[in-house]
Amino acid sequence: MIRDQEFIKNPNVPGPTKEEVRCIVICKSDVKPEDVVVDIGCGTGGLTLEFAKKAKTVYSIDINHEAIITTQQNLEKHGLTGNVKVIEGDGFDILDKIEKFDLLVIGGSGGKLPLLIEKGYNKLNNNGRIIIMAILLETCAEAISSLENLSLKPDVVNVSISKGEITKRGTMMLARNPITIISARKSI
Ligand code: SAH
Repeated sequence: MIRDQEFIKNPNVPGPTKEEVRCIVICKSDVKPEDVVVDIGCGTGGLTLEFAKKAKTVYSIDINHEAIITTQQNLEKHGLTGNVKVIEGDGFDILDKIEKFDLLVIGGSGGKLPLLIEKGYNKLNNNGRIIIMAILLETCAEAISSLENLSLKPDVVNVSISKGEITKRGTMMLARNPITIISARKSI
């Protein structure tokens, strides 16, 4: 995994998804070398870069121009531009322009989560996976009900990471915001 501090950051762009959370996302995604991945809401590129190392092709989409620039900078810094197409726009519209894929990663939806899940599901190959990162409780509930409406069985994991900071008196654990990872697999 790429260390958090190895990412170029922009104050106007969220991310990167913290290293330990990226580990869980990669694990849950079951990504394979032949997979085509779509990352909606690529932000700083935290997840895009990890998938670029493991998948065949990654489409990285963000509605924020600065996120597109930041993801591109991080791909260049880590020599991972070869198999990634970075696209500026609303994920909901861009999905129409992409052929079938194996993995849909949703890190940001701007209130369109049910629509993104439904459209994405229809373009997912058999055995494809959808994986959603949620900070808000409302997003979790929305993700779960949208997946259930498609007769999928969501796997829901909430993680609260604390990282040790070495002080003169000992190691102090500093808490990070909990994040929920919701995933499901399409099988027809
Ligand atoms: N996973 C990223 C961080 C994601 S932050 C990382 O590890 O770096 C969420 C991102 O979703 C933001 O950059 C925001 O601009 C984007 N976003 C929100 N709604 C969107 C939409 N409808 N289409 C595309 N991007 C969207």
